[in-house]
Amino acid sequence: MADGRVIEDSAMDFAQAVAGTEAPPQILENLRLIDVFYRGFDGCRHKGQLVVHRDLAPDLLEIFALMERQRFPVARAVPIVFFGWSDEASMAADNSSAFNYRLIAGTSRLSQHALGRAVDINPWENPAMDPAGRILPAGALRRPAQPGTFTEEHPLVRAFREKGWDWGGDFTHIRDYHHFEKSDPG
Ligand SMILES: [Zn+2]
Repeated sequence: MADGRVIEDSAMDFAQAVAGTEAPPQILENLRLIDVFYRGFDGCRHKGQLVVHRDLAPDLLEIFALMERQRFPVARAVPIVFFGWSDEASMAADNSSAFNYRLIAGTSRLSQHALGRAVDINPWENPAMDPAGRILPAGALRRPAQPGTFTEEHPLVRAFREKGWDWGGDFTHIRDYHHFEKSDPG
């Protein structure tokens, strides 16, 4: 905004942002809490926070800066502890988040979110579709022309790819349009 005001969506410290997680210490020690700035759907500048793997913090700060420059709106970014570690509640609130110590839905494998190596952005605008055709979050509708929506050749999707991230919209088992991940090369 012209007056420089920033709406603060999240102002936690690290201990608050990981409170109650079941993640072991060797995962927690690699996580960082970062402040991100974005333009909300209200047109105002907001400050939110993400809990991410320390190696990926620079990528995400660059991506959020790019989103602001491109006027790509972000609904909100609050660590998922605020939603009682419920991915469903976070998605229903159109919240963008990264770390969450959990399994890939419907499997016994740890999600990249469990390592802070995945980020979900605007799940309401970019719902996932599971193999059964179920939409997550329930009731969401993907409208590619709407602001805040990722598409195949979107500059932000390309920016993520150029940094070595995979986009969930390219996944074949579940089309997860709000999901980006960068697995550990080692
Ligand atoms: Zn995800």
